[in-house]
Parts: sequence; structure tokens; C-alpha cells
Amino acid sequence: MLRIGCHISAAGGYLAMGQRAHRLGGNTFAFFTRNPRGGAAKAADPADAEAFLAFCREHDIDRLVAHAPYTLNPCAEKQNVRDFALLAFREDLRRMELTPGQYYNFHPGSHVGQGVETGIAKIAEVLDQVLFPEMTTTVLLETMAGKGSEVGGTFEQLRQIIDRTALSDKLGVCLDTCHVWDGGYDIVNDLDGVLTKFDKTVGLDRLKAIHLNNSKNDLGVAKDRHARLTEGKLPLDAIGRILNHPALEKLPFILETPQEDESGYAEEIALCHRLHGDE
Ligand code: FE
Ligand code: FE
Ligand code: ZN
Repeated sequence: MLRIGCHISAAGGYLAMGQRAHRLGGNTFAFFTRNPRGGAAKAADPADAEAFLAFCREHDIDRLVAHAPYTLNPCAEKQNVRDFALLAFREDLRRMELTPGQYYNFHPGSHVGQGVETGIAKIAEVLDQVLFPEMTTTVLLETMAGKGSEVGGTFEQLRQIIDRTALSDKLGVCLDTCHVWDGGYDIVNDLDGVLTKFDKTVGLDRLKAIHLNNSKNDLGVAKDRHARLTEGKLPLDAIGRILNHPALEKLPFILETPQEDESGYAEEIALCHRLHGDE
């Protein structure tokens, strides 16, 4: 059985999220740890987290793939932006321990003119300040489309961030299918080749989650515009091959496709089960 789910609004807390994810047919899900555009996070309620974990056990929900806010930019030039990154990262990782052993995904950031090398150094610096030995969460670097000055648009850049981070055993990667396609990795015609490249560069053992999205754009345009599974440039049979690939099919798949509202995801979750041949 496929692990498939979608982005769920954080409204109402953990248990409410779990219930909505389940209602949509999901057995994994993602949520923003705070407003995606930034700002303060609501205090987490440990009793709510407990009730949520019990609900997940009962309903076979496995894997939270929490998402850091987009405004968390660990390689920003401005000190106040990096201060927010440090504060939000630290707070979020502490809160993640209410749901032990899960994933926290973040965008490596945009170097905005400082250059990739400086960007990578700054990202590792932030990771060195926020990762701690007792943490049970795995922090996932998301593969990016390479839009603007985004760091993480190539597997080599992700490798360098991991190599420069002291507690690198706490790090993994979340592969976003729209982003890698927009970044020039041909997962339609050469999925095996792309995964072999990933394995040689980063190591498939680091790959912990997939953001399953179609793309509005052609291969390699470095744009990052998500499309619904049936509507983008990736043909549906290519999506099927991704869902069924032996190196991927055990991973949690998270949909981040454009929908009118959350309920639109139910159809795509069902579609993914069909493409995987699940009952
Ligand atoms: Fe993301
Ligand atoms: Fe993503
Ligand atoms: Zn994206």
C-alpha cells in the first residue's frame, strides 16, 4: 500500500490535521509549522499531540512531513532574516519532538547575489546551530528548481550542504518532482538515470520523502510552478512510474498540487492508489 497524502492546513492543531488527512484518504501528510509566509507559531499542546499520535496508530497514518515556512532563509544576507531562520528552525525542531521520529522539510534558501558557495556555507552554519544530538527528527533538504538564486537546485549542492554539516546523520532529502523537472532532471524519459545520479551524488539512503507534483513548465526552465497530476507537462504514465519505482514506492508521497480547497486532494490520492495498483 502506497504512503500517499497531501498538504493539510494546520488549523485546529494536530488531531484536527490527522482527522482531515485521513478523511481525504491520506496515510501520511504535510503541514506548515507556522504561516508559510512567516510569523510566530501558535504554542503546541502536548495533549493534542498525544491524541493525534493515538489517532495515527489507529488509522495507519505514518510519517509527518512538516514543512518550514518559505520565509525561513538560512543563507540570507540580511542578519534579521537569518535571525528569523535560526529562531523558527530552533522552535520548530523543539516542537517536532512532540511527535518523535518524523520529518521536517525546509528549502535550503536563496543566496540573493552572494553566490552558491557562500550560500552553502551559511546553510551549514545554521544547521550546525539548530541540530542537536538527542533530536529524533530527520531534517530534510528539499530539492529546488533553481529559480532565481535558490540553493539546492542540483544534487551536488545538496551533497555539499550535507558534507559541511557536523550532525549530518540528522539530514535527509525530500525530492520534489516538479522542482527536479524544472531543474533539468528528466524524470519522464530517464527516471532510472536520475535516481542513479542521485544515488551516486547524495545516496538513496538519504532520500526520505517525495513531493509529488506535476509541472506547468518544460524540462529545465528553473521556474517552479506546480500543476495537478493530470494537468502538467509530466504525462500520467511517468507519474505512475515514479509511484511504482522500487527505490521510491516505500517513501511517503506528498501532493502539493494546486486545488480549490483541501478536498480536491481526495481525487488525486485515489488516483495515486489506482496508479500503484492498491485496492
Ligand atoms: Fe517546499
Ligand atoms: Fe515541494
Ligand atoms: Zn515548489
